[in-house]
Amino acid sequence: LELEFEQLQQNLPGWVRASQPCSAHGRVAAYIPELSKAPGEALGIHLIDAQGRTLTAGDSSLSFTMQSISKVFTLILALIDNGEKKVFSKVGMEPTGDNFNSMLKLELVRPGIPFNPLINAGAIAVSSIIGGDSPDEKSSRVLQFFRKLAHNDSLDYDYEVYRSESDTANLNRSMGYLLKDNGVLEGDVDDVLDVYFKHCSINATCADLSRMALVLAFNGTDPITGENLIPRRYVQIAKTFMTTCGMYNASGEFAIQVGLPAKSGVSGGILSMVPGRYGIGVIGPALNAKGNSIAGVQLLETMSQQMDWSLF
Ligand code: GLN
Repeated sequence: LELEFEQLQQNLPGWVRASQPCSAHGRVAAYIPELSKAPGEALGIHLIDAQGRTLTAGDSSLSFTMQSISKVFTLILALIDNGEKKVFSKVGMEPTGDNFNSMLKLELVRPGIPFNPLINAGAIAVSSIIGGDSPDEKSSRVLQFFRKLAHNDSLDYDYEVYRSESDTANLNRSMGYLLKDNGVLEGDVDDVLDVYFKHCSINATCADLSRMALVLAFNGTDPITGENLIPRRYVQIAKTFMTTCGMYNASGEFAIQVGLPAKSGVSGGILSMVPGRYGIGVIGPALNAKGNSIAGVQLLETMSQQMDWSLF
């Protein structure tokens, strides 16, 4: 492990430099207008191990909204609040093969439950069962939970991005109403969507993502503080979804090329981990056609192949 850390330390800057140019072939997300302001050529990474040793390279200080990465942790919070039985009455366990914002299959399975909790429809359904008496209380419970996992009390919303998404979210709103009509979504549709937009707009850095990933890499216990933050079973569920659905409809390819649990977001962030070893946060705002960071995926492929990290 010592040797591995040294090898990483030596090679990381070079791997980032080699991966960065492919960002020119990607595009920053623009359907949420505020996201289009991100620097498309940026690429950064932060890695942390169980002793709290960190490695960073590239534009690792950039902050960005978590977007779909947040879905992993709202799923976990919903599991803590409701248990498995309830959660899986709202969402399925299967990848879709469709885009993250697709409504295509919402009418197909059991009366209209989303295929999984990491697509938009599934995450909106999950948001509806997060504990709390009001949308504000639900949102603040989510934020507190994220702060605890990231070990960072200053984690907060990017209100610009939040408003930008809320103002333009016709597709997500229509999903919310369809889910309500299907009897899946609990409570008021606009209230639920507000909780969803808020958790997508939580601002973070690669360091935050890596610390949250580290907790998953160690089955729910923060190895640095020794604190148990998530029951092991729920981490297992989350990591399985990350492996099968975490990179949208490119999850199969990512499993073959990288072979690590990961979750991406449209702001270009990727949270990944080497189970039992490292938490990893990556940012590269330029996306490929499937909506994943183009340079970020390239970097993780290089690292995993060079370090022989694939779980398979
Ligand atoms: N907030 C984004 C949306 O709902 C999250 C999508 C994503 O990161 N893929 O469209």
